[in-house]
Amino acid sequence: AKTIAGEKGTATERSFVMIKPDGVSRQLVGKIVSRFEERGYKLVAIKSLTPSPALAKEHYSDLSARPFYGSLVKYITSGTPVVAMVWEGKDVIRQGRRIVGATNPQDADPGSVRGQYAVSVGRNLIHASDAFDSATKEIGLWFAEEELSDYEPIAWPWVMADN
Ligand code: GDP
Ligand code: MG
Repeated sequence: AKTIAGEKGTATERSFVMIKPDGVSRQLVGKIVSRFEERGYKLVAIKSLTPSPALAKEHYSDLSARPFYGSLVKYITSGTPVVAMVWEGKDVIRQGRRIVGATNPQDADPGSVRGQYAVSVGRNLIHASDAFDSATKEIGLWFAEEELSDYEPIAWPWVMADN
């Protein structure tokens, strides 16, 4: 069924991707956005903001019992903004996780964002939804429906062809 995260397994699938404050402070926004853009995914929404503690806590609510939860919320709400985005296209949730790389940058493929630019798990630059259900939750949490654009990039049929 079609939700705010599109339809799973089709070219309408959407993922929530966020450049964390270290990525913004280190001026890596353009390089990170380019990875998704050049792969052929569609930018559906983008904004920079400093999230409230309530928003950061809700975003990471699954991790509330972990020892690093408090420092994670502090990191995300540091005062340096994040860049929140929605990307769309075939398999974008799984491919987004591959572009981002393993949670611990020391285990991340060197071709991934974390493997190329990050060293510490607590400063790993970027977030991407890990499943269709979390994408649905996260897009709804960070964006209003009116902020999500509906358009077709010029190369879309070439990139998303399945024949
Ligand atoms: P992700 O989906 O790859 O981002 O990883 P998780 O959902 O497991 O964790 C969310 C975020 O919490 C990670 O991206 C890190 O910023 C942070 N995190 C995860 N594990 C650790 C840890 O062991 N120590 C610290 N300081 N932060 C962690
Ligand atoms: Mg996660």
